[in-house]
Amino acid sequence: MKFRHLIGCLLVLAGCKTQPGAPVAADAPTTTTTATPPQVRNVFERPKLVVGVVIDQMRPEYLYRFADDFTERGFKRLMREGYINHNTHYNYIPTYTGPGHASVYSGTTPATHGIIGNYWYSRELRSSVYCVGDSTVQPVGSSTGNAASPHRLLVTNLADELKLATNQRAKVVGVSIKDRSAVLPAGHVPDGAYWYDGSSGNFITSTYYRQQLPAWVASFNSRQLPNQYLDSTWTLLMPEANYRNSGPDDQPYEKVFKGKSTSTFPYVLPELRKENDNFGLLSYTPWGNTIVTDIALAALEGESLGQDETVDLLAVSYSTPDIVGHSFGPRSREQHDIYLRLDREIARLLEALDQQVGQGNYLLFLTADHAGADVPQFLVGERIPAGNYADKPLLTGLNAQLQQRFKQAKLVEYITNDQVYLDHSKINKAGLVLTEVQQAVVAHLVQQPYIVDAYTATNMRQQEYYGGIRHLLQMGFYRPRSGDVLYLLNPAWMEEMTIATTHGTGYNYDTHVPLMWYGWQIEQGNSYKRQTITDIAPTVSHLLGIGLPNGATGNPIIELVK
Ligand SMILES: [Zn+2]
Repeated sequence: MKFRHLIGCLLVLAGCKTQPGAPVAADAPTTTTTATPPQVRNVFERPKLVVGVVIDQMRPEYLYRFADDFTERGFKRLMREGYINHNTHYNYIPTYTGPGHASVYSGTTPATHGIIGNYWYSRELRSSVYCVGDSTVQPVGSSTGNAASPHRLLVTNLADELKLATNQRAKVVGVSIKDRSAVLPAGHVPDGAYWYDGSSGNFITSTYYRQQLPAWVASFNSRQLPNQYLDSTWTLLMPEANYRNSGPDDQPYEKVFKGKSTSTFPYVLPELRKENDNFGLLSYTPWGNTIVTDIALAALEGESLGQDETVDLLAVSYSTPDIVGHSFGPRSREQHDIYLRLDREIARLLEALDQQVGQGNYLLFLTADHAGADVPQFLVGERIPAGNYADKPLLTGLNAQLQQRFKQAKLVEYITNDQVYLDHSKINKAGLVLTEVQQAVVAHLVQQPYIVDAYTATNMRQQEYYGGIRHLLQMGFYRPRSGDVLYLLNPAWMEEMTIATTHGTGYNYDTHVPLMWYGWQIEQGNSYKRQTITDIAPTVSHLLGIGLPNGATGNPIIELVK
């Protein structure tokens, strides 16, 4: 490139105004050009719309392993034109959906936002509680649906801060198949959060939000799209040879639907729906993603998102990749096909946003609520260390051990999320010292070959862990809700389950997720610097000039906000 052309290009990049039709670089000395300071971001401008896209259970490696059959308009468009933080990780344990969505939008971890699992054990209620379950509200849109609210989320999130910054003028809508993935992103005061009810085939909400579905949701439901989608057969999108980067179709650990003898294509949905939860079956098929795009586009129109001078927020979460990932595993042909088709859904979403909000008017980020582990049996077959353990014997063994030492039966009340909850009232009544019982639990746990180490709640409260996996455990520990002892499994180990695989650990296969930025004020680029998932919300807060979510512990990604 000649020097004067280089100057010309630099001037264009710096935002220099040139006469229409005039040559970009004159032959005259450049010193005569009016000096224009380099363009800086107008910090008072905001986009018309922020779109948060969360894919449930997505590994970054899918972007490469499935790339040959992606279109240029979906994931590849984001990678080509957006800013990619390739090395983004979850920074706490456990890596589950509820905590994931809470953390993305609040910029902090379960230690602060309180969503320590999808479910956890409540000492007060003496039962397991669900992260968005709320017995004080009723479902709206289906009498049999889940009644959900964000009442267990202890902090404000991006959506709440946007509402506060605009005196409630900003509109906020969350949509997903799963209730928790619509509820937690949308915060405490949204215009709506809508999730799919597998019992009715409707998108529903709860009385926490409103007494009746808005007209646009009612009219969406009246289209009965699930019936239409479940009238199809799920076959491979591409010729079979294109699936060479995933495993053979029939694997012993894959889910076999009732009414079928193998876990193989094709899936004839009109037949399968009869015995497999009817409308609930939709979440196991590519149309589980299609209908999420459908409702997102309906929300865009129904709530007139991105249509006035006040910035709005649309939170979209695709749950089907997780449901299929659990059922068939990350190397299954089913998951491969789900991602090829999800790519088309991302393309459809982007094109609708271009058309209705306008290219450059919306800021979009795409990430995942966690990644996911390989199927242990698969890894063992590849001679990679992995395994499953039985959790029932762990509980009975532990109680037997404690009874022998402390002369009290059933001192362990519950085990969940790799945490042991002790019966505090029994311990108090018997005059036992809690820390001694906790230490005895640790001593028993670390004798199990699949357990690396275990830490007590007392450790978590009294010591500060600055790095490594203990730090991740501490960032997931919230004293009023967490257990007495937290244990860590060996890499690639998980409990025995009826599903193929899961996620939840602090290892890379669960923590490493995609993070892509696209649209308003985003210049193309790539970064391989380590970022944490808690950096997303602070980045958006700074880009918009709104308050940080009140518990945010992450930092803005400097390359994006400068
Ligand atoms: Zn999952």
